[in-house]
Amino acid sequence: LAASSSSSTRQVKLDKECELRVEVGETPLRFRLLNGTAEIFGTELPPEIWLTFPPRLKFAVFTWYGATVELNGTTETDYTADETPMVSYVNVHAVLDGRRSRTKASSADAPGSSQGPRVIVVGPTDSGKSTLSKMLLSWAAKQGWKPTFVDLDIGQGSITIPGCIAATPIEMPIDSVEGLPLEMALVYYFGHTTPSVNAELYKVLVKELAQTLERQFSGNAEARAAGMVINTMGWIEGVGYELLLHAIDTFNANIVLVIGQEKLCSMLKDVLKNKPNVDVVKLQKSGGVVSRNAKVRQKSRNYRIREYFYGLTNDLSPHSHIASFNDLFVYRIGGGPQAPRSALPIGAEPSADPTRLVLVTINRDLLHSVLAVSFAKEPDQIISSNVAGFICITDIDIQRKKITYLAPSAGDLPSKFLIVGSLTWLET
Ligand code: ATP
Repeated sequence: LAASSSSSTRQVKLDKECELRVEVGETPLRFRLLNGTAEIFGTELPPEIWLTFPPRLKFAVFTWYGATVELNGTTETDYTADETPMVSYVNVHAVLDGRRSRTKASSADAPGSSQGPRVIVVGPTDSGKSTLSKMLLSWAAKQGWKPTFVDLDIGQGSITIPGCIAATPIEMPIDSVEGLPLEMALVYYFGHTTPSVNAELYKVLVKELAQTLERQFSGNAEARAAGMVINTMGWIEGVGYELLLHAIDTFNANIVLVIGQEKLCSMLKDVLKNKPNVDVVKLQKSGGVVSRNAKVRQKSRNYRIREYFYGLTNDLSPHSHIASFNDLFVYRIGGGPQAPRSALPIGAEPSADPTRLVLVTINRDLLHSVLAVSFAKEPDQIISSNVAGFICITDIDIQRKKITYLAPSAGDLPSKFLIVGSLTWLET
């Protein structure tokens, strides 16, 4: 029968310290652990329960002691690998665990003094940074720690939609199907998927996020001892490198994990050699990391935005709203020159102020824009405020002065201050 291949069930036996690498195709894949123990990026699989993985997901099922798993459905590819860097990764976890325990013990003597490990994961694109971050977080959570995940990757972030930097406490191993929880996330909207559009603004937002976390940590010894895992962008040259150094400094990172790049590792070792409390550690890249070209990245950004509104399995129902032009205040950060050319000395170029707030006149240019809803109470708080969520503009009626937008729910927006960047989404 034609359908037989897609409903075929097969078993795969994995030897100890091996992994099954799977790329789900365009239809969901059902999967379960039959016997033994196995984990997906640090999160243990429940025995015998069927899990449904969404289309296009790429994952590895790794076993420390051996396991048999069962697959139901077709995959894009799947193969078994016996060479992985997992032992070196779990050794890093053991070091972090030791530091957390020591921090906890010493903070009992001197409350509020100690800080647990602050790990920053760096490396080129497609080196497995997000994956390693998730593993370290899930292993820590399994042992009862509540580390904070900080995601500075505005291109392919894991907490919320692209164009954001965000942080969230991890209280349980990360769900292999659902991904990271969004409920407690602290999100700042940059609005672009590459920092070069406004590197100064990126730095300002990174600083805001770090300061807010610092404030939260000061009243929370448990979170402080558990520390942070910080994921970064794959852009490691020029301005990208500068932004990495800025992030290491701003978050007071004390462990820098460099995946898969000798040159970056030696550069960082050299520049950080005067900071004896910062360790730079080189780690091997996993052969399982799937490379993604620009087109695939663009597509996955679109899926992320779709997922924000509709849920991973179309389980959410977003709502279409209509508002008057006067009801909403849309701001762009860093637009336009500071002073008109005529006001400058002859020969001087007007420079754009990267954090200048510009009230945008609503017109058709905003169609399909993804806007963030700020928590700011006044416009001058917009840059320093995190955001409540996002809307997408689906129609603009200039004559009637009406905007139609998609929002995650039917209720009123929590604020009328919106931030626009260059991020757009077109429902297909
Ligand atoms: P970038 O910075 O370029 O966004 P990255 O370095 O953070 O990427 P990841 O997102 O961790 O890279 O990995 C890229 C893809 O490879 C992801 O879809 C991830 O699930 C997949 N992947 C990582 N490790 C493995 C593995 N061992 N087996 C199968 N797939 C894997």
